[in-house]
Amino acid sequence: MSAYFIEKDRRARLASVLLVIALMTIISGLFYHQIIRYKSFLAQSEENRIRIRPIIPKRGVIFDRNKEMIADNRLSFTVSIVPMEMAKEVTLPRLAGLTGADTSAIKQKLNANFISKYIPAAVLRDQDISVISALEENSEHFPGVTYSVESVRRYVEGISAETFIGYIAEVAPDEIDKESQWGYRPGRLIGKKGIEKAYDRELRGIEGTDFIEVSARGQIIGTYGGRERVPAVPGADLVLTIDAALQREIVRFYDSLQSSGGVVALDPTTGEILALASFPGLDPNLFSGVIPDDVWRSIIDDPRHPLLNRPTSSMYPPGSTAKLLTAGAALEKGVLTPETMLRGCGGGMRFGNRVFKCWQEQGHGRLDLYHAVEQSCNVYFYQVGQILGLDAWNEFAVKSGFGRKSGIDISGELSGIAPSRAYYDKAFGQNRWSKLLILNIAIGQGEFIVTPLQLTQFYAGLANGGKVFKPHLLKEIRYPGKAIQKIEPSLSFTLPFANNTISVLSRSLELVVQGDRGTAKGLRNKYYTIAGKTGTAQNPHGKDHSWFVGYAPSNDPKILVCALVENAGHGSEVAAPLAGKIIKRYLLGDSTHNVIAHNVAESLVSE
Ligand SMILES: [Zn+2]
Repeated sequence: MSAYFIEKDRRARLASVLLVIALMTIISGLFYHQIIRYKSFLAQSEENRIRIRPIIPKRGVIFDRNKEMIADNRLSFTVSIVPMEMAKEVTLPRLAGLTGADTSAIKQKLNANFISKYIPAAVLRDQDISVISALEENSEHFPGVTYSVESVRRYVEGISAETFIGYIAEVAPDEIDKESQWGYRPGRLIGKKGIEKAYDRELRGIEGTDFIEVSARGQIIGTYGGRERVPAVPGADLVLTIDAALQREIVRFYDSLQSSGGVVALDPTTGEILALASFPGLDPNLFSGVIPDDVWRSIIDDPRHPLLNRPTSSMYPPGSTAKLLTAGAALEKGVLTPETMLRGCGGGMRFGNRVFKCWQEQGHGRLDLYHAVEQSCNVYFYQVGQILGLDAWNEFAVKSGFGRKSGIDISGELSGIAPSRAYYDKAFGQNRWSKLLILNIAIGQGEFIVTPLQLTQFYAGLANGGKVFKPHLLKEIRYPGKAIQKIEPSLSFTLPFANNTISVLSRSLELVVQGDRGTAKGLRNKYYTIAGKTGTAQNPHGKDHSWFVGYAPSNDPKILVCALVENAGHGSEVAAPLAGKIIKRYLLGDSTHNVIAHNVAESLVSE
């Protein structure tokens, strides 16, 4: 790169930093105005009959990585009550009669969203135009009732958006207390989950204020001249790392399976999450208006747990996908080489007084490490686990990101369990547990449990020369006024493996697809090489869970996919073909913006 370009790049970055600083200064000034002085305005309003009318800012819009809009706003009517002006015996029952809502429910909202007896409190959201016309025509029969036009969220459907975007809903009392310095007030809509929650402060902007003078009987006289109107600052728009087109395809592939489970896809060279989906999913638009009680009940009572965000908040045994961790640790400890032939597999092996089984009854015979991964032989890895021991296994598991959170930028993530000596002492009593527990851990069963995201992270490290970038969903923040803050990749940790170890592991992962006995040889194709691993996780509650995690092209990874299908049996039968379709859609799919599609097309032409 020439000096000119470096200088230009630096100048551009400086300009963008300055813009953000300038914007922050304006915003903090407004914060002072809005938050610190709000209380004094409130006191004055009680004395002087100056009514404060909040100006709700436009919530920021959310785009996918290709600038497809996936969350915007629509207008909706909110009915509010000014407590001072309502007629006790009349207002609530009449409003209930008009809208079909419950009187006690309206009363409850009125109490929950009460700020001052002069300030309208929202009681009914997302009301039909017919309700508003009736109120308008018969205002004298509804003392104290007023309405406003509010913007509420509208999400693109069919992309499992709730998994990463979350949803917004009315602020809860404990959230107001916790966030009072940020100006959360009763009755406002805030992000409750996912991106909407993680970046709520950026998205929702800053409320403005109008001051209106009213008569003693509550009638508006006009705008009050003594105080200057404070304009609202619109929320920032967000650009996510998500590829909505890919997400849409995943939903389509997954729907045909009719199963529960989850998918994570990311770019291993940056940690940018390309897809994050959980099944069954929920339509986030459900939460924008008012959820009827029976709908809410049916979501809560659904035995398939649609509210659960499986990629980040559900834990499973990793099954055979964990064999790469066992192998890596043993190679690093020097107790195994890629050529080491262990005792042959005859479909199982006796350890102590118990026989531990291989998944293939007729056995695999004698294998080296490459072929043990290719064919996923349990007997080989029981032996590696025994040689390695629990302490060494745990050391490498923790350094590889297991048993701790990845730090993804949405909340609700679980840390999984990477069992240690201390863990078993606590669970079973000091030394009162079998030393053979390591055998099951070595093949990804027993007490070792992971989230799909943790497994994604580990394989991203293998795909990327050991470097694991923090998985994230936010790509850019676009502040009003055009300042753009780009989120740079951030190195999270490095796998505790030497380059040599990583090449051995990657080569064995290629064999899983390319080898004649590979458990995922169905993914072989003429366009690119996939490297990956199948897994079958035992499930005490029913049929086994099916895993596949892999990346492509194996020599220059652009995408890594981790697919989990609950109760679907062998990884090779369900999860691997699913992951294969996702990889194909991303690398070759009809998306013209995709670099690799062009590269592959060109190389095909030159052949
Ligand atoms: Zn075997």
